[in-house]
Amino acid sequence: MTDRIDNGLDVLKEKLAGYLQDNGLRFSAERNAILETIYSMDCLFTPAQLLEAVSERQNFLVSRATVYNNLRIFESVGLVQKVLLDGSVKYDRGWHGNCSTRLVCTRCMKAWDSHDDRLDTLVREMKLRRFHMAGYTLYIHGLCSGCMQAAKRKKKSNRTKI
Ligand SMILES: [Zn+2]
Repeated sequence: MTDRIDNGLDVLKEKLAGYLQDNGLRFSAERNAILETIYSMDCLFTPAQLLEAVSERQNFLVSRATVYNNLRIFESVGLVQKVLLDGSVKYDRGWHGNCSTRLVCTRCMKAWDSHDDRLDTLVREMKLRRFHMAGYTLYIHGLCSGCMQAAKRKKKSNRTKI
């Protein structure tokens, strides 16, 4: 349970390859490009944003259906997870069995791992009756420093206009 996302994409690819083989599916170039794009993004994303990012970063033209199909497969394998944020569904990278606390900026959707181990220790020491914890992802919502500064600048310029 000590795995973290930065342990490497190769481990995730092996996990995916096993699932694909068991289900008679191919590890296609498109599938690889989509997975690599997801793990190079630093924001939560919608399928449409992923589609755009794959075409931009990988020089690959993939169809909307391919993106949706692969998101469904990646979710089954536990390589992405759906997150309900502000009433809309976004996707985040992450896998079952992972233990992480994610900080999410609700304005720009940037997401990253908190490296404060105190919460992790607390969760691991929780006494869960009749329950075996396989992992957890805790989301802390807020504003990143860039968005906070932009909000302050906007507030300041509005004040000077009056
Ligand atoms: Zn932000």
